Amino acid sequence: MQKIIHRYKGKGFKMTPQRLAILTFLEGNKTHPTAEEIFSEIKKAHPTVSFATVYNTVEALCKRGEVAEVTIDPERKHFDPDPSPHHHVMCTNCRKIGDIFKDYSATLNLPDKVRREFTITGNHVDFYGICKDCGK
Ligand SMILES: [Zn+2]
Ligand SMILES: [Zn+2]
Repeated sequence: MQKIIHRYKGKGFKMTPQRLAILTFLEGNKTHPTAEEIFSEIKKAHPTVSFATVYNTVEALCKRGEVAEVTIDPERKHFDPDPSPHHHVMCTNCRKIGDIFKDYSATLNLPDKVRREFTITGNHVDFYGICKDCGK
């Protein structure tokens, strides 16, 4: 927790107990939680926290590049405290999301027609499947 406080010190990010709770929950979190999931977790220790506070804090962290938005799930936005570029894989049954730290975008072979018409500046590659638990 001291580590988190130190990291945000003097960076124009006002630290409140609720914000600290959100940051602590997200630190090293690999579950790609939704805003609702973060909210229900923070509420346990901070019963007065509002959903708007949680949502606005997470959005502010996204804008600062501390947290990444994960768009693999068409139904709900998820958040990832690891903003480094990586791909995601989602179980289509339980919606569990995993990380893939291998760059597949480099293997994309775009047709010449596209390359002539566009200068490519980015891409987005997601994977879908059935996780081990659901496949049993
Ligand atoms: Zn699953
Ligand atoms: Zn991720």
